Amino acid sequence: MKVISPSYVILTDLDQQSLAVRIEACGRLCYKSEDKITADSAPAFIRRILKHGHNSVAEMAVLTLKIDVDRESHIAQLFAVLPKYLQIDRPEKKTLLVSGSVRAFRELFQGHGNLKIVKGITGFLADRHPLFFEDILPKRGLLPQEGVLVEKLSLAEVDNLPTDLFAKHRYIAVRFIVNRAVTHEMVRHRPCGFLQESQRYCRYSDSKFGNQVTFIRPLFYEPGSPEYAIWETAMQETEKLYIRLLETSTPQAARTVLPNSCKTELIVYANLLQWLHMFRLRTSRGADPSMREVMIPLLADFKVLFPAVFAHLTPEE
Ligand SMILES: Cc1cc2nc3c(=O)[nH]c(=O)nc-3n(C[C@H](O)[C@H](O)[C@H](O)COP(=O)(O)OP(=O)(O)OC[C@H]3O[C@@H](n4cnc5c(N)ncnc54)[C@H](O)[C@@H]3O)c2cc1C
Repeated sequence: MKVISPSYVILTDLDQQSLAVRIEACGRLCYKSEDKITADSAPAFIRRILKHGHNSVAEMAVLTLKIDVDRESHIAQLFAVLPKYLQIDRPEKKTLLVSGSVRAFRELFQGHGNLKIVKGITGFLADRHPLFFEDILPKRGLLPQEGVLVEKLSLAEVDNLPTDLFAKHRYIAVRFIVNRAVTHEMVRHRPCGFLQESQRYCRYSDSKFGNQVTFIRPLFYEPGSPEYAIWETAMQETEKLYIRLLETSTPQAARTVLPNSCKTELIVYANLLQWLHMFRLRTSRGADPSMREVMIPLLADFKVLFPAVFAHLTPEE
């Protein structure tokens, strides 16, 4: 068995990549198959994922659009259908700022593809990113929609928005390596996108996992203490049982003996406003100390990266 400390990486580079590269890079975390990424592996991976309905992978790439319409009624129609999982602002009477993931834009079209404004948005996106829409568009494609002018904002343009809009429309992903109890708490934050290493697919007895189970050092017990020794014995016994079960059953069956201390990887992708909400809850005195162990240093990093949104926030002592 291996024991490691919890950690995280802010995926600042991710949003500089193409949408397809972002989606594949995050999606392969589930299967720990990052080694299979090549210069042209993304399209096949994405087609497979979408076909199988593993839709949360398509939440890992967000883009921001500026939409100008010639008639206010187009905007009214969009608001009337209460679009889900999109950040929508109306900086001017006939202008919208809309941020959403590939999944949110796909589902907007699937649910409300009859609206002119939705056709305009989808046509624009499908022209630039056909891969994400080829399975849901009509064969003849979409005709250009007069009176709906769509533009994509660059990341630099999003970063230059006024703070209130910036906090809503700027998304950032963080990859955590923590225990399963911490990720179980993180995934309660419903507006985020998540992807997690799958214990159903990962067989920790394989050489790519070092033929062993990895556990996260519990911050509650000092190495060398009697409590740490009890914890260590429990993990050693668990690992033995897990590997024995793998001799005759699948990882998804054998995982039923794995404990909260098991190491896992989780990507959390959210806008800055949602991160603010999470930091408020997850750095507070009442939060799980194992959660605070990663969220307090992460907040310090966010303060440096995005001072306009996080500078005022200080974790409770
Ligand atoms: C100290 C602490 C102790 C906790 N103890 C427990 C516990 O014992 N048991 C337990 O089950 N959970 C517990 N939780 C989890 C907690 O109840 C929340 O589920 C978790 O913190 C997610 O935060 P959130 O509910 O604010 O929502 P998020 O999912 O982060 O949502 C953000 C915002 O989205 C909106 N929202 C999202 N979904 C809905 C919805 N369905 N209806 C209305 N508004 C919605 C709300 O406006 C919310 O502010 C604990 C959390 C903390 C911080």
